[in-house]
Amino acid sequence: AKQAGRNAYRFFSEQMNADAHERLALQSRLSQAVERGELLLHYQPQIDLRTRRIIGAEALVRWRDRELGLVSPAKFIPVAEESGLIIPIGEWVLREACRQVQLWREQGLPELLIAVNMSALQFKRSDPVETVRQILEETGLPGHCLELELTESILIDDANLILETLRRLKALGVQLAIDDFGTGYSSLAYLKRFPIDKLKIDQSFVRDIVDDADEAAIVHTIIQLGRNLKMRTLAEGVETESQLAFLRVEGCREAQGYLFSKPLPADDFLALFRQGRAL
Ligand code: C2E
Ligand code: CA
Ligand code: CA
Ligand code: CA
Repeated sequence: AKQAGRNAYRFFSEQMNADAHERLALQSRLSQAVERGELLLHYQPQIDLRTRRIIGAEALVRWRDRELGLVSPAKFIPVAEESGLIIPIGEWVLREACRQVQLWREQGLPELLIAVNMSALQFKRSDPVETVRQILEETGLPGHCLELELTESILIDDANLILETLRRLKALGVQLAIDDFGTGYSSLAYLKRFPIDKLKIDQSFVRDIVDDADEAAIVHTIIQLGRNLKMRTLAEGVETESQLAFLRVEGCREAQGYLFSKPLPADDFLALFRQGRAL
């Protein structure tokens, strides 16, 4: 038994070493990718449910590696968070998204809100207000065209400090959204205190709204909460017309999901946005 235990231990520890090794390898490739400019952005349309037209886009990072191909952010964002690489990556994403949208504005395209994800580490370890201010200035994008997507984990620290940071961001004119709303650990108390403009209803709740009464109740409640607190609500991961019908009846005004469009390379997004038609 003792022998078996030792073997099991060795097995687990080898497995852990292999995992750690893989993560480290991924981390060093990712770090090179950042330097070589191998990251790119895709843009997923955000839709006004009354008109079904594009009103915004979420910038989603992609990594094209020569050997690994297109690596999903679900795989490399956690590695980037662990290693701190998320700070330069996040800054690149912000700059690139603002630059792109300002370029489209200069080409005479209609107003577009660009949503950019900001990780907790970026928010806490660097000076997010100064970074955002600088990038807006550098690209010329007006603050009101930018929305920052924050996760609930950002909002559970020292409330006074966070409030101060959020106020300074609002002073730049930017919009603030809570991403994956309802999946974090935070209390509802912060919602009332913080200057939040939008709640993004997580796709895990949207998925089953048609068949699952519990999920439907959660989504209903989030939309009501948003309305009562005068915040907009956007449903993520909308894939079917029946989900859409439910959301419209409940009074949700905005959505994002495969029903309308996948995240697209900049050129394809531009072509779709230019057409200006209902999706
Ligand atoms: P997220 O912020 O919740 O982004 C939404 C994810 O849902 C995206 O996955 C998007 O492609 C996917 N999605 C959109 N519509 C649908 C749909 O109808 N059905 C389904 N099943 N999925 C849909 P993606 O692009 O793979 O990104 C995954 C996550 O990686 C993001 O989740 C976000 O947390 C993170 N991420 C992506 N880009 C960035 C970034 O620039 N910075 C940071 N910090 N995180 C990022
Ligand atoms: Ca997001
Ligand atoms: Ca989300
Ligand atoms: Ca998510």
